This record gives sequence, structure tokens and C-alpha cells, in this order.
Amino acid sequence: MIQENLSKIKQELPEHVQLIVVSKFRSLEELQEVYDAGIRDFAENRVQELTRKQEVMPKDVRWHMIGHLQSNKVKYIAPFIHMIHSVDSPGLAGEINRQAIKVNRKIPCLLQVHIAQEESKFGFDKNGLLGFLKGISETPLPGIQWKGLMGMASLTRDEQQIKQEFLSLRTLRDELKSLHPECGNWQEISMGMSSDYGIAVECGSTMVRLGSIVFEDSSLR
Ligand SMILES: *Cc1c(COP(=O)(O)O)cnc(C)c1O
Repeated sequence: MIQENLSKIKQELPEHVQLIVVSKFRSLEELQEVYDAGIRDFAENRVQELTRKQEVMPKDVRWHMIGHLQSNKVKYIAPFIHMIHSVDSPGLAGEINRQAIKVNRKIPCLLQVHIAQEESKFGFDKNGLLGFLKGISETPLPGIQWKGLMGMASLTRDEQQIKQEFLSLRTLRDELKSLHPECGNWQEISMGMSSDYGIAVECGSTMVRLGSIVFEDSSLR
């Protein structure tokens, strides 16, 4: 079933959009099945589960952190994490920078932006983001490679609203490209989950994070 789901998804996705399989809560057997289907990009939202799986899965897996990250846990993933999508505060960015330097890395990171109408504790708003970038353009963080932005749309059936939210992230990314080329190339936009990735791709997503649509029986959805 996982294999069928994956081949259907791969057929639909344009080539420039990277598929990241969200493996949180899934068993090692399920992860291995995804791996055997050729997927190498896996995402988790909790450090403990991520490190537990990283220890046993093949070493060529590229691990993505997509959930809220506490500063005191950065040290556990700094040596190997492929990309952190969920940098949501200046304090966290500072700690990632510190830990990256310790292990002699420049960790690829995305800034998480709060685009949904729903209340959420996590993610920068536009002004907070612009203020932060002004700061790091003056005092750069050498342990971080800024790659782009990540966002989550509201949980709603209103496709127009979802589209507006994704487009707002896209527009913000385009602004950063011209305002802060010194901070990064801003090429990545991580947006789109199982329920809304079609809209996200239309709006310019470069990375979709898919969980349930990969692992669950589509006839039950
Ligand atoms: C769980 C999760 C996903 C995947 O959600 P699905 O609806 O299962 O595809 C994507 N992004 C984040 C940040 C998540 O926590």
C-alpha cells in the first residue's frame, strides 16, 4: 500500500517539488518500506523520536526537523540533521548557530512563518521576521545556512483561504529575495501537507511534507 501511495504521489508532483515523507508516529517497518521505495528524505517533529530512528535507519537518510524545537534539544540533532524547517524564534536560531559551530557545520534552516488565521504559538509574523533579518544582516550567524521559509495553512475546507495563506508565504519569500540577498538564497518554500499539497504546489511550494497520504489506505480517507 505504501508503495502504491508513493508512486501515485510521485506521478502527480512536478519534478522541481521535493517530496519529504513525514514519518512521525510510524513504525520502523513502515519507514523501511518507504526507504525501499527509494525515498531518502524523512521528517519528524520530535527530537527523541527523530534520534531514535536516525540511529537505526540507513545512514543515507536525510533527516528533516519540522516540529517546534526546544533550544536545549538542538545539541542532539546538530551533528546530523539535514534541514531544520521550524526555526521560529531568534533564541532558537542563536542556539542552532552555537551547536552547529561546535560540530563544525553550517546547518541548512528555514524560518517558520505564521500564515494561518488560527492562533498558534509558533512561527514569526512578518514584522518579527524582517526585524530578525535586519539583525542577522548586521551580525550573521555563521553556523546557519538560510534556505527559505516554511508555513502551515489553516485547517479549513475553504480552499480560497488556504490559497491566500500559501500565496502570502510565497510573496514574503519573493520580498526577502530582494531585501536580504546577503542572508541566503531563499530558494525553498516548505509548504503543503496531505490535505493541501495540491494547492501549495500551485502557489510555488518547493518542498511538500506528506504523512497520512503516504501511510494510510486511500480508500479509507
Ligand atoms: C504531521 C505534519 C505534517 C504531515 O501531515 P499529514 O497531514 O499527515 O500529511 C506536515 N508538516 C508538519 C509540520 C507536521 O507536523
